[in-house]
Amino acid sequence: MDAADEIVPVLACQDVRKTFGSSVVLDGLTLDVGEHEVVALIGASGSGKSTLLRCVNLLAEIDDGTVRLDGEDITDPKADADLVRRKIGLVFQSYNLFPHMTVLDNITLAPIKVHGRPGAEAKAQAMEWLQRVGLADKAGSYPDRLSGGQQQRVAIVRALVNSPRLLLLDEVTSALDPELVGEVLTMIRDLKSDGMTMVLATHEMGFARQVADRVAFLDAGRVLEQGPPAQVLGDPVEARTRQFLARII
Ligand code: ADP
Ligand code: MG
Repeated sequence: MDAADEIVPVLACQDVRKTFGSSVVLDGLTLDVGEHEVVALIGASGSGKSTLLRCVNLLAEIDDGTVRLDGEDITDPKADADLVRRKIGLVFQSYNLFPHMTVLDNITLAPIKVHGRPGAEAKAQAMEWLQRVGLADKAGSYPDRLSGGQQQRVAIVRALVNSPRLLLLDEVTSALDPELVGEVLTMIRDLKSDGMTMVLATHEMGFARQVADRVAFLDAGRVLEQGPPAQVLGDPVEARTRQFLARII
């Protein structure tokens, strides 16, 4: 295959190193994510999952290595961080909606104020998404009128309204009551059917098995093992992966 035929991954993390003081949190981490691929990050608490997602979204600066989006080095100081964040959506465990703003304003704030998009266009697109996820009637409501599951779905819509190339989801069901987890997982499954490229940190092994194309096990700031969910979760190669799974399943 010559160079021109090479498929460029949507996300390519190469030898990424991230330290906080003397602690090395990402220790030469390498991970590629292809177009339309869904990669589940699993690993013990403290293994670096959130830090990786934050580094990819440029909320934290890496010490060494490269992160490429569609082949472009986004950790280059000359990269436009606002543009990168428009292309990479990140949703956290706690939904972080602004309590004093309506659902619609929560969704359109960044597109209008940060990315300078026309208000009418941003609002129309927000309404389209809210309709798709069955929350159109909540557009004028304040977050405290919504269930946790609805709030988290709004937070995901907020990340989608910029039509990102890549969606990062960090334990998005961990703060929810068990009966509200399903509606959020269904939304993620629908996004996968739509072809959205996603990286999701999760403790929901059953969901990782169902929705992920690939599972990557993080250990001490590296990808220790990765592969199809059935293999990594069902028949892991590494002893540390087996120990982790034995503890949580
Ligand atoms: P995970 O999401 O896999 O639980 P994290 O990425 O949150 O792991 O954390 C990895 C390690 O980095 C932990 O030891 C954590 O204490 C440390 N860490 C994360 N953020 C910071 C920070 N802002 N300052 C110092 N240490 C941090
Ligand atoms: Mg985390």
